[in-house]
Amino acid sequence: MYYRSFNNYLKQKYGGRIQKISIDAGFTCPNRDGTKASGGCTFCNNVAFSPYAMTKQTVEDQIEKAMNFYKKRFKNIKGFLAYFQAYTNTYAPVEKLKELYDKAMEYEDIIGMSIGTRPDVVPEEVLDLIATYTVEKPEIWIEYGLQTANPKTLRNINRAHGVAEFVDAVLRTKKRPNIKICAHLIVGLPGDEYEDYIESAKLIASLPIDGIKIHPLHIVRHTVMEKQYKKGEIRLLSMKEYAKIVVDMFDYLPEDIIVHRLTGEAPEEELIAPNWCLPQRKQEVLKAIEEEFKIRQANKKLVIV
Ligand code: SF4
Repeated sequence: MYYRSFNNYLKQKYGGRIQKISIDAGFTCPNRDGTKASGGCTFCNNVAFSPYAMTKQTVEDQIEKAMNFYKKRFKNIKGFLAYFQAYTNTYAPVEKLKELYDKAMEYEDIIGMSIGTRPDVVPEEVLDLIATYTVEKPEIWIEYGLQTANPKTLRNINRAHGVAEFVDAVLRTKKRPNIKICAHLIVGLPGDEYEDYIESAKLIASLPIDGIKIHPLHIVRHTVMEKQYKKGEIRLLSMKEYAKIVVDMFDYLPEDIIVHRLTGEAPEEELIAPNWCLPQRKQEVLKAIEEEFKIRQANKKLVIV
């Protein structure tokens, strides 16, 4: 392995498989309801954003179903991680958040949670609440979407937050040192150039961030980007280009950063392009990245000799 993967980190720490359980707790997003902006990020699928489209299943139902499924499928499971994934998972009054998080944290088999959110939706009382779970559970993560360190691109994709909000959220979060932070980046956003990817990696490296997720830009149906792509306004990276950029970014990232993800997929019925972001091609993408790491290592050896 050329990097420290999240799965390996968990395996080493807990002596076996820790399975993530994705939860849709019925949150919405302030970048769509007019609080921060309307319409959402231009890459984000709007169709699913309707109270009616959201899951009717309770948090407990989702957790129990997933636990039963994974326990049957994998014999070596040592525990679970509740992943509050859908939309902005800190976007509710703190009492409501406590109620939802408590439901997940009461299961003994759950060793912690990962909360996906925007960096501009984490007031102090929410961070204080999240920190309370670190007393009993060892893996409490917040995942902040930055996507890029280029403020112009952030504006163009209608993120409705800047780089400063991200830095501020990270620094305020780390005043509670037991909360771990994962940052999300997208490689290939329109307007971003090579130097922006490197700048994003450098920014991550300069902050107290524990983990990273890197996704290639892929266009899904019912998004602003679908229209832009069809008008020929967006050029997508090839798999090879993506792999090279990702490996270049690792030259600037801390060696011990925990890598939660290095690619991203969408199912056939949702994906417009590129074709290499289909789930069945995920291993191919990871292999391309690995190949690129191998080439770099071989080159380094050549230099040393
Ligand atoms: S990507 Fe996240 S922040 Fe952007 S619109 Fe979608 S749910 Fe909201």
